[in-house]
Amino acid sequence: MVNLFVPKETGAGETRVAATPESARALIKGGLTVSIERGAGEAAYMPDSEYQTAGATLVSRAEGLAAADIVAAVGAPAAEDIARMKKGSILIALRATAQPGITTFSMERIPRTTKAQTMDALSSQASIAGYKAALIAATELPRYFPLLMTAAGTIKPAKVVVMGAGVAGLQALATARRLGAVVEVSDIRPAVKEQVQSLGGRFIDLPMQESGEGAGGYAKEVSADFLRQQREIVTRHVAAADVVITTAQVPGKKAPVLLTREMVEGMRPGSIIIDLAVDSGGNCELTKPGQTVHNGVRIFGISNLAATMSHDASILYARNIQALVFEFVQKGVLNLNMENEIIRETVVKGSS
Ligand code: NAD
Repeated sequence: MVNLFVPKETGAGETRVAATPESARALIKGGLTVSIERGAGEAAYMPDSEYQTAGATLVSRAEGLAAADIVAAVGAPAAEDIARMKKGSILIALRATAQPGITTFSMERIPRTTKAQTMDALSSQASIAGYKAALIAATELPRYFPLLMTAAGTIKPAKVVVMGAGVAGLQALATARRLGAVVEVSDIRPAVKEQVQSLGGRFIDLPMQESGEGAGGYAKEVSADFLRQQREIVTRHVAAADVVITTAQVPGKKAPVLLTREMVEGMRPGSIIIDLAVDSGGNCELTKPGQTVHNGVRIFGISNLAATMSHDASILYARNIQALVFEFVQKGVLNLNMENEIIRETVVKGSS
């Protein structure tokens, strides 16, 4: 039988787990055996007893790694853990790198196709990040988000600008709208305008001829001149904003700088910037990991926001893993068919 092992995560601040009792039950029903490191689900509020009830076996890390045909994790395990894995076994994790003797699947390589949507961990986790970014902004802002008419007078709704209308940005928009803010959105792919409007956002039009539309629905790197013109147009919107949430990314490149020091200095004290692109260099020139204050504007460079919602983030990530595993384990039989686009694209080249 194909044995899948889920270790307890060791990364700093990592609270998620790659299998839930629900996904363990489904994997077992699909013909696998599932073993879980004791305490692996604790930070996601999934106790060992629930995994046992689902039919999984609780094991030590060393036992689990040595016996597994598939090791499924959130973050890539450390080298000493990988060294304990069987030759010919499979590793699945986010940002996993090629390993000799092991077939590595890196979850962010899942193709953005309709068929692979159930496995799309980037989307499931980015959506949480966007939601949380809007909530953090709402709790940190020294103002209300909604329009309020009170006996003491009217409070105007907060103005939020979202930069980047990918999965995280659209969820930030939707969440800020639900809380009653007025939301404006900038993106360089004109195709997202309609999505922004359907969620109640106002799209900031960019009149440039150059297109930001790249391959596979992603953005491409635009010229320095394009970015300069974009900043000129967006400056006015940013100066009027209470909150700016930035999520703009170009795959494989440093994040574009959309907010300069000057633009931050044009914002009112008390305003908030949440920069979700911090790991790829930040969309704001002044972003540092954690909180920075500049002229009374608070800039939050926050990575891995998905881990702040450990329970649901794990439920979604575990379903992504489960769907990928069923792509190459059918009726309990493992078959790595490299003609299958999802498998071929997700396996890290150079692993074997
Ligand atoms: P991402 O994280 O790579 O980038 C976030 C956003 O930043 C993108 O919308 C991008 O256009 C934008 N951006 C880049 N440079 C910018 C700039 N200078 N100014 C403003 N915005 C800028 O994107 P993502 O969330 O991974 O999504 C990328 C695309 O893939 C989206 O169209 C999304 O809908 C699509 N997608 C498709 C599927 C699927 O079909 N299975 C799944 C998920 C996402």
